[in-house]
Amino acid sequence: MGVFEILVNYAIITLSLNSVNNFLMFFEFYFYFFLFLFGGIIGSFINCYIWRTKNNKNIWHGRSCCLHCNQQLKVVENIPIFSWLFLKGKCRICKKNIPKYYFLIELSTAILFLLVGILNYVYLDFYWLYLVRDLFFVSILIIVFVYDLFYKLILSQVVWLGAIVGLVFNFFIIDFTIISLFWGVVVGGGFFLVQFLISKGRWIGGGDVRLGFMLGCWFFWPKILVVLFLAYIIGAIFSVGLLVKDKRYWQSALPFGVFLTISAFITLYFGNNIIEWYMSFLI
Ligand SMILES: [Zn+2]
Repeated sequence: MGVFEILVNYAIITLSLNSVNNFLMFFEFYFYFFLFLFGGIIGSFINCYIWRTKNNKNIWHGRSCCLHCNQQLKVVENIPIFSWLFLKGKCRICKKNIPKYYFLIELSTAILFLLVGILNYVYLDFYWLYLVRDLFFVSILIIVFVYDLFYKLILSQVVWLGAIVGLVFNFFIIDFTIISLFWGVVVGGGFFLVQFLISKGRWIGGGDVRLGFMLGCWFFWPKILVVLFLAYIIGAIFSVGLLVKDKRYWQSALPFGVFLTISAFITLYFGNNIIEWYMSFLI
């Protein structure tokens, strides 16, 4: 083979490697971009779901409209994240404020979807069913978080849906034993059920029991312990922070579902690391 052929072969290999790289970068960019947009759309749906559930309206019925003047939104006014910015947080007709948390929930959902994509793609062995499962789970967690934060109530229909879908996904994609599922559910639900029964529902509500049960279906034994411990640690940090800021927070405790959902998200990706880290102290 002459020098010329070697150079040509080299050029062909380099070019094709570059195009594979380019293709992967192109794919990654659109993958993340799509997740962000999709998160915005789901965030918009979550807003709609929360508002309609709170106001006893049919979730699937009717188009989005202004909360104040009932004016139906045009398509351009209904684009997640961007419409709120474009309208400067005001209705086009009545000029009344569209709550800022609408925008924040859409943006947060988009960012969390992006984060789930990055964590799945970079941190775990990528498998699309894991991604779909995690996106679903995060959506459930966001609804529970927001509703509990705003209205101090954990929506049971959302929690039951989460438990059923979680079990179906995990049944097909995770190796788990019936024993670990059994103890996950017993510990997750039972931990709150005991407190609920002892305090006759004064310390915690029935919603926490159901949420604990659902998290048991997702995390099994022993990971459910990480979710519970971490929730208490996060709760303690928040409480101390709030108390330092203002003594009035003594009276208004933050609902526990808020901490459980944050803890569940962290445990979803770092639960194994936390268990390993903890075990390293025991040996
Ligand atoms: Zn309006």
